[in-house]
Amino acid sequence: MPGQLYVVATPIGNLGDMVPRAVEVLHAVDLIAAEDTRHSGRLLKHLGIDTPLVAYHDHSDERQMGRVLDMLVQGQTVALISDAGTPLISDPGYRLVREARLQDIRVTPIPGACAAIAALSASGLPSDRFSFEGFPPPKTAARVKRFETLAESAQTMIFYESPHRILDTLRDMITTFGPDREAVLAREITKTFETFLTGTLTTILQQVCADSNQQKGEMVVMVKGNVDAVSASEAEQLRILKTLLDDLPVKQAAALAARITGGRKNALYQLALSLRPD
Ligand code: SAM
Repeated sequence: MPGQLYVVATPIGNLGDMVPRAVEVLHAVDLIAAEDTRHSGRLLKHLGIDTPLVAYHDHSDERQMGRVLDMLVQGQTVALISDAGTPLISDPGYRLVREARLQDIRVTPIPGACAAIAALSASGLPSDRFSFEGFPPPKTAARVKRFETLAESAQTMIFYESPHRILDTLRDMITTFGPDREAVLAREITKTFETFLTGTLTTILQQVCADSNQQKGEMVVMVKGNVDAVSASEAEQLRILKTLLDDLPVKQAAALAARITGGRKNALYQLALSLRPD
């Protein structure tokens, strides 16, 4: 019987967020693979858990990953944890989970805290569609380039950022997403100084500049999608349709507009009819 790998979320600040099932699993497994054994050692001590602990990183040497996989293949159980939150979300674990799955080992998530989801859930930004963008590149040129690829995205974007880069990142966001783009900066979630700054990128930058406390701790930046991008493309469809209607009958103009813009033929036909009923 192959073993089982548990991917266990741990709190992102408030230890009360440790879910009971995670505690049970960490007690019961044969081994805990942790991003940082000293850091996780403190959590485990607090929980009274004395399961053997080893360090695991995606850049751990092959032998280290091999040892964990061997244990799983031999039928033992392993829990993967990171310093805080959900493993693999801007944290180690991807290589281990991937290899385990390739070797037909059962992988089970034990869900819990994740800063990105906690931040989004309380942000007031649209949450029906969103993208998790992780940490932006640390160097300005690469960061601006990354933001440029996202400038037209219509969904809410979630970024992690470190305190010493937050000012540069907000400035680069203003340059690429525009000064008036709605955003939220969530800081120290679940901790004593939890703060949500809401407004535009400009007003958030002003607040962060004015209060150095806002430049401390752990933070998530969320940027509302470019909803205008959708209407801009609709406006473009309308412009092309109107031009074609100057010379073509409604049906042909709608069909051609659909081919040029990638828009829906029927919707463009209805629009053309409303513009020029034949
Ligand atoms: N795996 C973690 C998760 O599930 O959220 C994220 C790990 S990543 C290395 C650490 C980053 O997550 C921090 O730099 C910060 O951007 C964000 N983060 C973690 N805890 C946070 C908190 N309590 N409040 C705000 N952001 C947090």
